[in-house]
Parts: sequence; structure tokens; C-alpha cells
Amino acid sequence: MVTNINKIVYEGKAKILYNGLEPKTLIQYFKDDATANNAEKHAIIKSKGILNNFISEYLMNKIELCGVPTHFIKRINDREQLIKKVKIIPVELVVRNKATGSIVKRYGIKESLQFNKPIIEFFYKNDSLGDPLLNENHILEFDWAKPNELEIMKYYALKINKILTDIFNNIKIDLIDFKVEFGRIKDNKNKDFIILADEISPDNCRLWDTDTKKRLDKDIFRKDLGDLIDGYQEVASRLGIKIN
Ligand code: C5P
Repeated sequence: MVTNINKIVYEGKAKILYNGLEPKTLIQYFKDDATANNAEKHAIIKSKGILNNFISEYLMNKIELCGVPTHFIKRINDREQLIKKVKIIPVELVVRNKATGSIVKRYGIKESLQFNKPIIEFFYKNDSLGDPLLNENHILEFDWAKPNELEIMKYYALKINKILTDIFNNIKIDLIDFKVEFGRIKDNKNKDFIILADEISPDNCRLWDTDTKKRLDKDIFRKDLGDLIDGYQEVASRLGIKIN
């Protein structure tokens, strides 16, 4: 059941944001839409939104407990969660532990190469431009983030990598890479600070079974590798998530 009858604030490819009932909050609704290649490929995959809502709740709670502030407040129902309203920073941070996906295409490096230390990449969050790769000079020069904000986002991204790697290692899943987004909120002294926003789910992580290397993430859809729901369900079950 979905409670929300409020005004749509933003509709993205996989989620809708509505005004929350309390001030400075939003309701994040998880759709069943799956897209790839900047929405060139699209499908509705029944229950994907529900799985992502539960998985993201689980991971956001763990991340918050480990000291990275997040926008997550609580899950409301199968499809919706209450979140803090943030001003999104238009920079996507990708952390990579092993080479796959766009980094392999871009530089011709060996697929599955293990990096000595995680690589952080930045992309401009702009669908009409195809989310181009950025470096830190672009972010600072275009004033998309202040120098201290950039440092904190990098610090949080690496900390999240450690938290998620440990969680997934425990359930025999390798975290290959993931994407995160951050936003600004004001504290009670009207000072900006940075918190993790968006979602953390198999839509924006690459997750491979440690033994079989079976894909358990959105690459199943991107590359037509089988049933996406089986993969996401496997991740949820191994995490111990029960979906009513
Ligand atoms: O495609 P690429 O290899 O750059 O993706 C790196 C990581 O970022 C993958 O885990 C992918 O799921 C995620 N990603 C995302 N949203 C995008 C692009 C990539 O969540 N727009």
C-alpha cells in the first residue's frame, strides 16, 4: 500500500520524490522501472522497487551507525521511505575496487583487475549530457562543491566502501564498485553540512558472488544475464532482510 497523495517534487528514472508531511522531509518512492545506457534500454521489472527500498533501508542504517550521516529517516511501507530534504550536489562519486564497466571501456584495462587501492571517479549528474567524467578542478571551478565539501565526500565515499565491503564479504559477495550521491542540509546554526542521499542498492552497486562470480546487480538487466529479481532477492536474503 502507498500512502502518498502529496505533490511530486522530482521524478527520476527509478524513483519519485514527494513532499513529506513534516517540514524539511521528502518521501522517496521506489519505482519498478529499470533503465540502462542513459535510458536507451527500459523495462518494468515487477517488485524491483520493493527490493531496492528494503535493501537501501538496511544499508543506509548500517552506514549511519558507522558514522556517515545519511538522508534516511525511516521506511514507511513497501515502496516508500521518509528522507531529509537536501540540496543535491550534482556530482556522482563512483568508487571502484575492481575494473569493470565504463572504466574498462574508457582505458582498455583488464576486466576484473583488482586495484591496489580503491579508485574514486566523479561524474557530472546530467542525463542530457550523458553524465560526463569530471576531475576535481571542474567541480571546484564550476562551484558544484566547496573544497572542504569535496574532501568530506571523498572521505565518506571511502568509508562507505569499507563499510559495504565488510557487510558483503560476510555474505560471500564481492563489492566491485558503486555510485553515491551527496546533498547539503542546514544545521540548527544555518551552517551547511554534507549527508549521503539517493539510495544504495543493486541498482547502483556491482555485486558478484565471491565463489561463482555470478552477477547479483543491475548488470543482469544491462547485459541480459537472466532474472534481475532472482539476483536482488539473493542479495536481500543473504543480508537477512525479510520482505512481508
Ligand atoms: O557504468 P560504470 O562502470 O561507470 O558504473 C560504475 C558504478 O556506478 C556501477 O556500480 C553502476 O551501477 C553505478 N552507476 C549508477 N548510476 C549511473 C552510472 C553508474 O548507479 N548513472
